[in-house]
Amino acid sequence: MKGDELYALLRRRGVLWPTAEIYGGAQGLYDYGPLGAKLKRRIEEAWTAWFVGLSHDYYLIEPAEILPEAVVRASGHLENFTDPEVTCENCHQAFRADTILEKVRPEGVDGLTPEQIADIVHEHRVRCPNCSSTALSVPKPFNLMFGLDFGVTGRERVYLRPETAQSSYLSFPRMWDVGRKALPLGVAVVGKAYRNEIAPRQVLFRMRAFTQTELQIFFDPSHFPLPFGRVRDESLPVVRAARRLAGSEEVEHVRAEELVSAGALPDFYVFHLVHSYHFFRDVLKLPADRLRLLEKSDQERAFYNRIQFDIEANLESLGGFKELGAVHYRGDYDLGRHGQGSGRDLSVTQTGGRSVLPHVLELTGGPDRYLWAVADLLLAQDGDRTVWRLPPYLAPVTAGVFPLIPKAHRAYALRLADELAAAGIDVQYDDAGTIGKRYARMDEAGTPFCVTVDGETVSDGPNRDTVTVRDRDSKTQERVPVASLSAHLGASTRSPRPARA
Ligand SMILES: [Zn+2]
Repeated sequence: MKGDELYALLRRRGVLWPTAEIYGGAQGLYDYGPLGAKLKRRIEEAWTAWFVGLSHDYYLIEPAEILPEAVVRASGHLENFTDPEVTCENCHQAFRADTILEKVRPEGVDGLTPEQIADIVHEHRVRCPNCSSTALSVPKPFNLMFGLDFGVTGRERVYLRPETAQSSYLSFPRMWDVGRKALPLGVAVVGKAYRNEIAPRQVLFRMRAFTQTELQIFFDPSHFPLPFGRVRDESLPVVRAARRLAGSEEVEHVRAEELVSAGALPDFYVFHLVHSYHFFRDVLKLPADRLRLLEKSDQERAFYNRIQFDIEANLESLGGFKELGAVHYRGDYDLGRHGQGSGRDLSVTQTGGRSVLPHVLELTGGPDRYLWAVADLLLAQDGDRTVWRLPPYLAPVTAGVFPLIPKAHRAYALRLADELAAAGIDVQYDDAGTIGKRYARMDEAGTPFCVTVDGETVSDGPNRDTVTVRDRDSKTQERVPVASLSAHLGASTRSPRPARA
């Protein structure tokens, strides 16, 4: 589906819509409706179950969303978390430099000085996208953080966190103290981050308030014990940086073991890369042939990242491969910076007396993007129906409950819907229109099962107290006793877990 068609469908179905829509919306902000809020929450729960489930020593925390200025100064965000911004001297609109240069310089402007960017603008006679004037300014760095005045005096400067990662780094010493004082130690956060994007776009892909799912793993680089044997033979669809520099973006399928032995990547990195890939393939159920792991080159990575693969999905709605997540080996940059900033040495002494400043492996991504990807890749036309093939554990509604003939079967169907809800099954009662219309609404909402109460259910015949259960994907129907219905429906609502390390 094209991007605007997909967004229109998601708006119409109440998955999401612009914030403050009756006031014309607010750029880069979206609200999730009933289907979207539930789907997003399920995705976040599935992410947590998968990644926190990787080890007994990985934990979920919920830190505050506001950070003191000293934190963002130490992390480098105050100085460096900027985009070059070009203003039009005629109409006074501001644009990101890489956006207005998209056509003439598709590789972006990272690493260029403001003067170099201005030269390119001049050389190509680039015009203002708004008024077509060529009077464009030399770019200025524009900081993407939202600053706030804190407290009654307003003299203390604080910031909405630009990423959840910082909260995990700040929590490390406390987590060390309350934990079992051993490395590796993983600290996960699922929460909002805020960026004052100059040009928010692509709906859920560049928002000003968005959710991140991030796991920061603190470890001793000389010793990271993990069961690599479990993933040794897994094949990964990678595009290595060297190959890209040689001009090819073709995917190679490489075994995990080869990435370590011949590919010179550390086993702890590859182990977590495999599990990140499996999250998208096996938990979100995105088609494997739409996924790739793209290695970033020295020039593309932030300087503190020693290894970086982005996990990308090929999305028709956004015109190609888009980043859904990444695995960053950040070295000791983060605890080093916060050690300096806070004046507290964040080294730890492990059992056996070895002291180490932990390194960080970061598994990052965002459920807003995951949600868009499961809409793009799993919502499709099947003949004359639109079907959202969400795995049952992600589906906002597990089962639609219908009376075949409302007048005759409503009371039974309503009672059944209540009983299923009481048993913890997410159900939606619907008696509007024909059965075909009700199926169509459920198919489009991703509901995996539809339960219909009919004449046989309420009869004295052999099918008394049985209902038909219709499967969304195969459209097949089976007769199921009401007594075993909640077990039948509930069996598929638990998201996959990895084998524990
Ligand atoms: Zn202009």
